[in-house]
Amino acid sequence: MTPLERALRERIQAEGPITVEAFMEACNDYYYATRDPLGAAGDFTTAPEISQMFGEMVGAALADCWTRAGSPGSAVYAELGPGRGTLAADALRVLRFTGFAGAAHLVETSPVLRKAQKAAVPCAEWHEALETLPSAPLLLVANEFLDALPIQQFVHGTERRIATAAGSLAFDRDGDIVEISPAREQAVRDLAARLVSNGGVALFIDYGHARSGRGDTLQAVRGHRFSSVLADPGEQDLTSHVDFEAVQRAARDAGAAVTPVVTQGRWLQQLGIEARAQSLQGSNPERAGDIEAALHRLTAADQMGALFKVAAVHSPEWSVPAGFE
Ligand code: SAH
Repeated sequence: MTPLERALRERIQAEGPITVEAFMEACNDYYYATRDPLGAAGDFTTAPEISQMFGEMVGAALADCWTRAGSPGSAVYAELGPGRGTLAADALRVLRFTGFAGAAHLVETSPVLRKAQKAAVPCAEWHEALETLPSAPLLLVANEFLDALPIQQFVHGTERRIATAAGSLAFDRDGDIVEISPAREQAVRDLAARLVSNGGVALFIDYGHARSGRGDTLQAVRGHRFSSVLADPGEQDLTSHVDFEAVQRAARDAGAAVTPVVTQGRWLQQLGIEARAQSLQGSNPERAGDIEAALHRLTAADQMGALFKVAAVHSPEWSVPAGFE
């Protein structure tokens, strides 16, 4: 039994069955605080870890927004859940090239990942939550961050909980599931309010769907394979598909402007990833095959290109970010 499972069983014994939301929050807090889950030796691989081209496209999109807003000197780069800091390093390299000299603010709770981020972006400042980000125009990105925030599940209007049954953890009910994520919507609303007050743009990239729907999307991943959600609490990555319609609604409620939701493949292509791949291949002919494979993985519909979606939230006073036509 994992240390967290022991603690959760004691909690269920004392309080009764716990919600899926409380379970997911406890599992992910423990999981991220105790390891670097990324890469071949870890549990999963993310887009910025596949190729520098991903972070460079994010940097180019943010740089374009910043220049069109008149290159405000007060703007800062910000990121939610920056993993190993690879995306931040790649995006900042592009941003610096266009004259952006602002600070980097990283929202990260995991001490293990903060250490990796410090190696990648030594000059950054760290935050436990987005409330302490500076009151400045934000050039923000969140890749695979919203999917890790806890969700609630409902079966016929009743919130689904986790109990102990026959000596193991079990859901208290099954059936047609509807998911909502108050934590996710709160984060988007808070951020959108900041963009309205201070200016800026936020790019959300995640796997999920453009329209709200029914169904159980809670999943566990460990060692690059799907696993059972209730197995080994705290030792596997728990995520759910992001409902981008709910994200857009939360941002609009706070007065921010939102772009349409597009697929990652289309977004990267519109930002010019193919030209970037060709240029990288030209200067690194010995890596041409790897670069082609990375491009395919990031953009092809049967890889990450279609399942992953992108949407931007921005100040109504800033122009619409590129890539969403
Ligand atoms: N964006 C990175 C990592 C994605 S994994 C990449 O694309 O590679 C999820 C990240 O979100 C990790 O850095 C994790 O520690 C962080 N995270 C998860 N829940 C969080 C929370 N509630 N507050 C801040 N960071 C969180």
